[in-house]
Amino acid sequence: MIKHDISKYKHIWVFVEHENGEVARVSFELLTKARELAKDLDCEVHAFTVGDKVEQFKDEVFKYGAKKFFIIEDPILKDYMTEPYRDSIVYLIEKYKPEVVLIGATTLGRDLAGTIATVLQTGLTADTTALDIDPKTKNLLMTRPTFGGNLMATIFCPDNRPQMSTSRPGVYKAIEEPVKGEVIKEKFEFDKAKYTKKILEKIIEEGEKVNLGFYDIIVSGGFGMGSKENMKFVQELADVLGGTWAASRKAVQAGWAPQTRQVGQTGQTVHPKIYIACGISGAIQHVAGMKSSDVIIAINKDPEAPIFELATYGIVGDVLEVLPKMTKMFKEKLGK
Ligand code: FAD
Repeated sequence: MIKHDISKYKHIWVFVEHENGEVARVSFELLTKARELAKDLDCEVHAFTVGDKVEQFKDEVFKYGAKKFFIIEDPILKDYMTEPYRDSIVYLIEKYKPEVVLIGATTLGRDLAGTIATVLQTGLTADTTALDIDPKTKNLLMTRPTFGGNLMATIFCPDNRPQMSTSRPGVYKAIEEPVKGEVIKEKFEFDKAKYTKKILEKIIEEGEKVNLGFYDIIVSGGFGMGSKENMKFVQELADVLGGTWAASRKAVQAGWAPQTRQVGQTGQTVHPKIYIACGISGAIQHVAGMKSSDVIIAINKDPEAPIFELATYGIVGDVLEVLPKMTKMFKEKLGK
């Protein structure tokens, strides 16, 4: 295994993921987290991306505290393709040598990070849910669930750089802290003959796509809701409160909600202002996706349900009685 001269590497880089001219929210979440890590490392936060027209993202990137924005623009990068993205990003990383590279654990990010880390011969921790700096060694501590979510493993990469992690969307809050940043435009000579794949057509998947991370209030139904029809009580309360509805995996597996609304380790990670867990036991894999909500309200008929250990407020009762009452009360109070 090769070892890099780690003293040559500095600053934290965050990948700015974009599609159809829009930046993925996870990039802003990671820029926010990177600012916190940068204080411990005494370094700067920089953003980077490649694409056809990406300079347009500079204002958003600087709004979230990136002091520099490294970009490569080329028509070949218009749509995501692993190889040209990989080669141009590897070029940037080898030239500027960031100490840490953070990428969103999206479908694109997961594909990209693995291939970059392989070429750079460095370590990558995929799908992390926590990032810290070791106060002694200054290594990045990357934590992720393992063994089916029953254990949390903290992984670090002491000998090679950059230290790479993909992080789940929704784990960190995106908080603005504007700076006056600088755009650094690089050119990369693509060996176009090397890229044999071509995008012939893009077909947008039909169906409900819900980004639960955008909502301040989430009402979530579990197996305790009893049936698909009863999920309407969850939806009604969410509507009255101006939030959205979600579900546990068991409710999803029962066919009561689409997978796109699942919260938890194999669903989405959320941190709304209010999370109302209805008929959800509080299994570790569910809790992994909602534990950082500001206020957690649990409704469960079992006073011993583990969800109560986590809840800010607990209601011991039957969801089928409690939910309609809550909806009626909020309707009256909010004049709806
Ligand atoms: P249950 O555990 O069956 O709990 C139902 C609860 O409802 C009970 O506490 C019961 O007391 C209460 N209840 C019943 N009737 C009523 C009523 N009328 N009124 C009030 N309360 C009532 N789970 C997730 O949610 N998200 C994930 O992403 C996820 N990923 C997983 C990944 C792996 C690898 C594995 C192994 C599991 C995963 N799970 C996940 C599943 C998880 O372990 C639990 O099985 C699941 O969260 C349980 O869902 P639940 O709380 O809705 O159901």
